[in-house]
Amino acid sequence: MNIVLLGAPGAGKGTQAAKLVEARGLAHISTGDIFRAAVTAGTPLGLEAKRFMDAGELVPDAVVIGIVQERLSEPDCAVGFILDGFPRTVPQADALTKALASMGKKLDHVISIDVDRAALIKRLTARRQCRSCGRIYNVLTSRPKHFNVCDDCGGEVFLRDDDSVGTVTNRLDVYDRNTAPLIDYYRKAGLLRSIDGDRPADEVFADILAAVRA
Ligand code: AMP
Repeated sequence: MNIVLLGAPGAGKGTQAAKLVEARGLAHISTGDIFRAAVTAGTPLGLEAKRFMDAGELVPDAVVIGIVQERLSEPDCAVGFILDGFPRTVPQADALTKALASMGKKLDHVISIDVDRAALIKRLTARRQCRSCGRIYNVLTSRPKHFNVCDDCGGEVFLRDDDSVGTVTNRLDVYDRNTAPLIDYYRKAGLLRSIDGDRPADEVFADILAAVRA
C-alpha cells in the first residue's frame, strides 16, 4: 500500500506516519528527516538544504525529486511506503506520478490531515524533537520525563531552528501557496481523504486506519 500524508507543518504527519509504519510495516519516507540527517552529517546536500530550511522555504523541486526517486527504488519500499512531507508542490506531485508509473506502481491513498492555522502555530512553537531517534514531543502536552532528554533513547530533545516563531509563519505561508493546491489535485484524482487533525493523536490515527482500509 502506497500512501501520501498531506498537511501543513505541525499537522501531525510525522506522528501519524510513525504510527502507520508500526501498524502496517510500510517504509517511511520523510523528506524533512532526510534533509535534517544531511545537515547533521554536513554533506553537500545538507549544506544546500540548510539555507532553505532555516528560512522556512522549500528546497528546489529538482533536488527533492531526485532524492525521492532514489529512495523509492530501495528494497524496503517494495512492500509499500508512506510519503511524509512529499510532494509539496504540483511539479513534485507530477514527478511522483511519473516515477511510480515507471516502476509499475501507483498511489493508493492520499490522506490530508487538516488543522487550522492558530492551532498549528501553537503546536509548532511548542514542538520539540529528539536529535537521535526523531521522536516528537510537545512542551505543553507531552514533555520528556527529564528536561531535554528523550524517554526512548536518551538523545537530546531540541527545538528545531525552523520551529522558531518567525520561521513558522513563513512556513505556513509557503504551505498555503505551494502545497495546499495539492488537496484539489488529489481530490480530482479521486485519491483524497480529509481527516480532522485537531484531536488527540490516537483519534486521528483511528480515522486514518479506517480510511486506508476503505
Ligand atoms: P518538514 O520536516 O517536512 O517540515 O521539512 C522541513 C523542511 O525541509 C521544509 O521546511 C523544507 O525546507 C524542506 N523540505 C522537506 N520536504 C520538502 C519538499 N518535499 N520540498 C521542498 N522542501 C522540502
